Amino acid sequence: MSDLIVPQQILDELIAHARELDPHECCGFLAGTGRTVTRAYRIKNIVGLEGAAQAASFDEAKIRHLSRLSPEERAEIAFIMDAQEMFQAVKDMRKNGLTLQVVYHSHPHDPARPSVTDIKIANDWEENWSRLNLTLPVYLLISLMDKSRPDLRGYWIKQGTVSPAQITTV
Ligand SMILES: [Zn+2]
Repeated sequence: MSDLIVPQQILDELIAHARELDPHECCGFLAGTGRTVTRAYRIKNIVGLEGAAQAASFDEAKIRHLSRLSPEERAEIAFIMDAQEMFQAVKDMRKNGLTLQVVYHSHPHDPARPSVTDIKIANDWEENWSRLNLTLPVYLLISLMDKSRPDLRGYWIKQGTVSPAQITTV
């Protein structure tokens, strides 16, 4: 049984988003009802446009969840979602009876696999989802390593353990 059913049109939207922001990483949410995704929400990557080196100059609240990382790990952070846009998206989902199902981001130069940093961030967020009354999302990676053939893969990240999520495209 698949974990998620995603229309090809939504996958195409994600690929378009990833290509627009290449060589920076794009990020966002997918939401829907039951196991079926119906909507994509683009979220601003607050390091995507300025460059990861600037991350240290962003306000404390936005990067607080990164404080447990070493300086080397922080330096390789390539996406931080804009908190205000995240909460705006979740609010919009609730208004429309949709559930958050997926957190997506792109890897312009790397395979569609969560990086060590991605896993740490997912770990930090694990308890936040339930605090926000949300279920654990699937992490979807869009790789543009082969520019002409984007690779999309979904994963569950639970307590630091990564396992593939079954995604059916319709
Ligand atoms: Zn990543």
